[in-house]
Amino acid sequence: MGIELREITQKYGELTAVNNVNLFIEDGEMLALLGPSGCGKTTLLKTIAGLLPLYRGKICFNNEDISKWEAQKRNAAMVFQNYALFPHMSVEENIAYGLKIRKNNKSQTMAKVDEILNKVELSGLNHRKISELSGGQQQRVALARALVIEPSILLFDEPLSNLDQRLRIAMRQKIREIQQEYGITSIYVTHDQEEAMSISDRIAVMKDGIIEQIGTADQVYLKPQNRFVAEFMGIANIVKLGENQELDRILESGNPGSSLRSRILDGGWDMLKHRLLVFRPEDVEIGEAGEFEGTVIWQETIGSVKMVTIDYLGNKIIAEIRNYYKSGIKCANGDRIRFNLDLNEIHLIDD
Ligand code: ATP
Repeated sequence: MGIELREITQKYGELTAVNNVNLFIEDGEMLALLGPSGCGKTTLLKTIAGLLPLYRGKICFNNEDISKWEAQKRNAAMVFQNYALFPHMSVEENIAYGLKIRKNNKSQTMAKVDEILNKVELSGLNHRKISELSGGQQQRVALARALVIEPSILLFDEPLSNLDQRLRIAMRQKIREIQQEYGITSIYVTHDQEEAMSISDRIAVMKDGIIEQIGTADQVYLKPQNRFVAEFMGIANIVKLGENQELDRILESGNPGSSLRSRILDGGWDMLKHRLLVFRPEDVEIGEAGEFEGTVIWQETIGSVKMVTIDYLGNKIIAEIRNYYKSGIKCANGDRIRFNLDLNEIHLIDD
């Protein structure tokens, strides 16, 4: 089921929660809606589900205008952060509920419930009460309840936020596996960029009701279109060109990569002035042969990875040293340290 959103605007009184959003989600695709709290993700999700009346715009499922369809007719299933299960019912009753109201017969219903319980790895727990399940198990029941009605689209609203880190990783893999197996067009709301990158085919990054960028995980990570996306998608080093002679001289001399050099030759240095160079911590290579020199102002080691913040002529540059203990690199706050930028491609954005 392909989903098309055309010029969608949603308001709560005077507040514009979603502002002229255009989006196409392909049949079978998993799209992550990613953005900070209050940017309009849930509003957009509820709009697609038909849980909010449309203020302006058009929603099409497979090219058919469904903007005025009631929620039930849209056949969308939602999985929520708080699971939204019926606490007084058993696992089986919760999952069977949607089939009952759709008047499936009992033996069909039970066969489907068993099949789906097997799929979410909860076989045998049919008669457990919801209150006797762990958070991870409850979320699996919620997923099973959504899947059992064979929805045309699946809508996830921060489904894993209440789980601990390890369980979140296991569950997101499970959700992705099942979504791909069933081929259900899905939208997954999250404010966690790692979750968005791991679970989806594409990511739409939202801010203040607007979609700032849509693309695959590597497109939004490696080629953010603006500062907001660069900073939201992980740690971003951002330095302004044309403001610092030493930095410019090193960049212009051909290091870090030939693409900036060729762009300078093509368009002249003036073209790049005042634009922002964006690179990631893993692009910073610490080593004696480095052309840049700065001072370590902060460093922390997490497992085998050390993150080092370097003050370079007033710019804060964050470097990542993988395999720190084997790297032979030693650094403490206040040390002078040399580094290079290892950039295959230069990525510039406007200030
Ligand atoms: P979160 O990640 O915190 O759930 P979100 O990105 O899903 O946030 P929304 O819940 O869609 O954001 O909210 C978008 C904006 O609309 C926010 O400013 C919010 O305060 C406002 N809002 C949401 N629901 C209502 C409502 N029922 N009445 C009035 N304002 C609302």
